[in-house]
Amino acid sequence: MHTPLMPIPGHTDPVAVPRPGLVDGVTPREDGRIDLIGLPKQRIVELFAQAGLDAKAAKLRAKQVYHWLYHRGVTEFEAMTDIAKTMRPWLAERFVIGRPEIVEAQVSTDGTRKWLLRTADKHDFEMVFIPDADRGTLCVSSQVGCTLNCRFCHTGTMRLVRNLTPGEIVGQVMLARDSLGEWPKSASDTRIGTMAGLDFDDDDTEAASAYTPDGRLLTNIVMMGMGEPLYNFDNVRDALKLVMDGEGLALSKRRITLSTSGVVPMMARAGEEIGVNLAVSLHAVTKDVRDEIVPINRKYGIEELLQACADYPGASNARRITFEYVMLKDKNDSDDDARELIRLIKQYKLPAKVNLIPFNPWDGAAYECSSPERIKRFAEIVFDAGISAPVRTPRGRDIDAACGQLKTAAEKKSRAELDRLAEEKLAALG
Ligand code: SAH
Ligand code: SF4
Repeated sequence: MHTPLMPIPGHTDPVAVPRPGLVDGVTPREDGRIDLIGLPKQRIVELFAQAGLDAKAAKLRAKQVYHWLYHRGVTEFEAMTDIAKTMRPWLAERFVIGRPEIVEAQVSTDGTRKWLLRTADKHDFEMVFIPDADRGTLCVSSQVGCTLNCRFCHTGTMRLVRNLTPGEIVGQVMLARDSLGEWPKSASDTRIGTMAGLDFDDDDTEAASAYTPDGRLLTNIVMMGMGEPLYNFDNVRDALKLVMDGEGLALSKRRITLSTSGVVPMMARAGEEIGVNLAVSLHAVTKDVRDEIVPINRKYGIEELLQACADYPGASNARRITFEYVMLKDKNDSDDDARELIRLIKQYKLPAKVNLIPFNPWDGAAYECSSPERIKRFAEIVFDAGISAPVRTPRGRDIDAACGQLKTAAEKKSRAELDRLAEEKLAALG
């Protein structure tokens, strides 16, 4: 059997370099190199060993490379100054430090930014950054398309093309840091800052952080872009682990929110294995209406969903579950709906907050947004029952940047096509 040899510094192999082989969860590249982004440290150790380093060197190099990749955000091996100069080309021959390709970047008049991104195998998806007074939120995609078909959601009109890999998910956060210029500039500046002086929490990672004087723009992440994160559980978990790792991107789990349409069987695992904040796309309080607008409700009903919320590990008054509620005219916006919402939240004793989201219309959508007065009244009723119910201000409308409504990658479809697709997706739901 061929035993891989240690590379000789400066020596160029006359034969093709041994390829470490296809790696699970990594999109294969035409040049055969392996993209390290998305891989945990242990996997990098294994790949370095397979490529010829002895066990000790593989471990040391992986530790160094991991730090440069995830903590310092470098995109070239040449920039890894504590790795021997002769070693850097050896790495570059076998590995790459990938980022999703940027097809288009737009900035809204309100500061919201949207990127159309492309995977190495040429599938497009989107990412949005929403700056606010006290935070900056990155809306991250988990899939290209979606298997579900919520009737008010534009992504629901697309077929699922494929799950995004951990690298493509964490790569979005890394790309945002690239674009915002938010990587630590030097080794002494490697701690993660956030908006200076604002409400940072007592999580270990952040408590140990020295806040940068000017503050960071990207402080929060929401898994609310394209796709249903709990139908791509492993990849979302692996990506978020890199985001939360104190030696990696080091963003506190308290600043990350995962939004689900209600994939009940995966919710407990999400709490246990990821442990971020939970948002649930409730959108309706009766079976009839929820069956229509969030069809996964036919599989996992409201009671089951709310019970899973009550059981969600880590939910407490300090860490409330967010219920998303899109305001659809004459569909789910009556006073009775508001009262039923309160009753359900109280029945399941949920530490909850309700986000009222004005419906963001798109061509071919079968709904209209509720009037501002209706939304205000609905919010008052919920608020008067002691439940926080902020109305979300639409952001980046001029560039179609609303979370859950990312549409550049989807083609326009006729009503008949939309109905056919809905039928198909329903049948697949079982
Ligand atoms: N699949 C997950 C996460 C992505 S959708 C989920 O459904 O929760 C993120 C949020 O955007 C969801 O609450 C979704 O219902 C909402 N959304 C989708 N389309 C919208 C639209 N046209 N207007 C307003 N909110 C929308
Ligand atoms: Fe998919 Fe979420 Fe859109 Fe529903 S709202 S179709 S689950 S992305």
